[in-house]
Amino acid sequence: MLGFARPAMQHKVAAQLISAASLRSLHSSSPSRTMSSMVEGYSPLRLLLIGSPGSGKGTQSARIQENFEVETISSGDLLRKNIMQGTEIGKIAAMEMQNGALVSDKVMVKLIDMELNKIGSEQSWLLDGFPRTMSQAVTLDNTLQAVNQPLNLVIHLNVPEEVILQRIMDRWVHIPSGRVYNMTYNPPKQAGLDDVTGEPLERRLDDNPETFKIRLQKHHELTEPLLDYYRHRGILISLSGNTSDEIYPQIRELLQSRFRPEEVPVTEAPVAEAQI
Ligand code: ATP
Ligand code: MG
Repeated sequence: MLGFARPAMQHKVAAQLISAASLRSLHSSSPSRTMSSMVEGYSPLRLLLIGSPGSGKGTQSARIQENFEVETISSGDLLRKNIMQGTEIGKIAAMEMQNGALVSDKVMVKLIDMELNKIGSEQSWLLDGFPRTMSQAVTLDNTLQAVNQPLNLVIHLNVPEEVILQRIMDRWVHIPSGRVYNMTYNPPKQAGLDDVTGEPLERRLDDNPETFKIRLQKHHELTEPLLDYYRHRGILISLSGNTSDEIYPQIRELLQSRFRPEEVPVTEAPVAEAQI
């Protein structure tokens, strides 16, 4: 689905304030819509979560997926799964990831392409960690434009740098699922084990102060320019907070207007849980 050969997309340059109306896709519902969870007049959600390493993209993805009918694609989780399974992509990616460098655009495009192709055109989805370079962003836009399914919302998780490093040092993950635990805020029920499968948790090889510094630097240099790119398209919303619990209610409120009330959960996760 994705491909570098496509012509560059002419994106809208008129900066506009985000409002419910501006979030409505131009390609709105058709009579044949099958996805019952979307409110009439809205296209399926095509959401990108963007934020520095450790800003809580994985945690927010999981919460969105729990509460709304949305498929999630996480580039980091996909890469870690490939490394664990010893695939060709995993072998290529391992060294870069361990060093905090970015995996090549070509590999990333191929990986995400395969995942997007598995999702039906009427299904809502969100991307976590891709695109994170201008080249990836333009490639994705061209592809989505060609199938008339452009990104319609970009949420920037704006978390102060000072609080992020400590969160990273406290983080354990269940690699096969991407589930994230924080030893301070949301420890697993049984020390060292995933709550759902009982399988062992691991530290990410790139979660150490030295590599984190490089990841952060790459983020500033290569990913932050994407914020302007999406701001000019009028689809960027920046949400701020020190913890995921402060930011999630803002995301929830933003997404609720797009989904039917019966799809919205009656209860929320307790406030003390899942801070990273
Ligand atoms: P966090 O998971 O804490 O938000 P992060 O954004 O640095 O931090 P991941 O998204 O899991 O972490 O990515 C981990 C590593 O995988 C990156 O440092 C990079 O090496 C590689 N990677 C992930 N997505 C991409 C991408 N779109 N392009 C290039 N490399 C990527
Ligand atoms: Mg992540």
